[in-house]
Amino acid sequence: MKTEKTLSLSTRAVHAGEPERRPGAPITTPVYHSSMFLTEDLGRYDDIKYIRSSNMPNHTAVARKLADLEGGEAALVTATGMSAITSALLAVLGKGGHLIAQNSLYGGTQALVTHDFPDLGLACTFVDATRPDGWKAALRPETRAIYVESLTNPRLDVADLEGVVRFAREHKLVSLIDNTFATPVNFRPLERGFDLVLHSATKYLNGHSDLVAGVVVGSAQRVEQVRHKLIHLGGSADPHACFLLQRGVKTLTLRVDAQNRNALEIATWLERHPRVARVNYPGLASHPQHDRARTLFAGFGGMVSFELEADAAEAGAFLRRLRLVVHTVSLGGVETLATRPAATSHAGLSAEERKAAGIADGLIRLSVGIESPADVIADLEQALAGVKG
Ligand code: PLP
Repeated sequence: MKTEKTLSLSTRAVHAGEPERRPGAPITTPVYHSSMFLTEDLGRYDDIKYIRSSNMPNHTAVARKLADLEGGEAALVTATGMSAITSALLAVLGKGGHLIAQNSLYGGTQALVTHDFPDLGLACTFVDATRPDGWKAALRPETRAIYVESLTNPRLDVADLEGVVRFAREHKLVSLIDNTFATPVNFRPLERGFDLVLHSATKYLNGHSDLVAGVVVGSAQRVEQVRHKLIHLGGSADPHACFLLQRGVKTLTLRVDAQNRNALEIATWLERHPRVARVNYPGLASHPQHDRARTLFAGFGGMVSFELEADAAEAGAFLRRLRLVVHTVSLGGVETLATRPAATSHAGLSAEERKAAGIADGLIRLSVGIESPADVIADLEQALAGVKG
């Protein structure tokens, strides 16, 4: 179903992309468990109805919903967040292309551009995206794109996102942003001038920790270019995952609004706790880019990280004492999750590299869920009580 732009985001999350209203029509898009459809006319290879071509009814239904929420002309749903990222980057960089990227990317993306790019004849230069001074020096004749994240993991830095768009336009680069942490509820990059928005839909978009998927959103022409690449790379989404994702997105605004509120309450409480040395949350006045976050974002998100006055062993013991909060990787689900980045997402870095990136052994990352914040705080409190000062 097509929805009017005058409708609120929460209304569009429910109705956009759903089946047209006809007597006897289903209310939701059923799962089409069929690898291909009967061919009427061969036409273009990319148009043959086949799951790998990402053009089956479950793909297009959820893609329409996500294009609507991000304010894009078109969207492409993919098998994983990483398949969205790899397909989009390979599509825009072309042969021998060079990328300018934020220096604190999600580990999988960082590994891709650091370790796999050279094998593919591609190159990447990292910059501090919170300030534009070093960006010009990173330009090369073959630079094609600039890549950032709306909030970084686990420090929750906020890049100069408006500056990135200006820089991209000035130097004719494609601007890409991984909007997984902010979600379209808190930030819609296309409205600010970004060219392509990427998501690990595994996280907030789905919100129930029960699938992996990715999304690319942008102009019809750019999304088609990425789909063409995806068809050859083979990262298409399974129709059942599309169905679950479409169902999950219907409650996105409810969940993210609650996560924004809960995370702010928990971050504020943590900041006052004597065993907590530092809290990273863009909604706190103490965050170095708090003013920027206030002007860019409708909410500050559900991710909080905090540093315990503790070494690795003690921080690990803190995690094991948690009873309600789930000690695991990933993020964006309805349940509150906790992890220690030095032992998980950033375990591949040396101790010096982690220190330079501000990732102490005692740093804990929380993905705040939709439980009562009082219950989460009580659990954190009992686990913090065992941390020796
Ligand atoms: N982008 C961000 C910010 C992530 O946190 C992740 C996964 O943790 C990804 C991309 C990759 O997504 P996926 O695991 O769905 O491939």
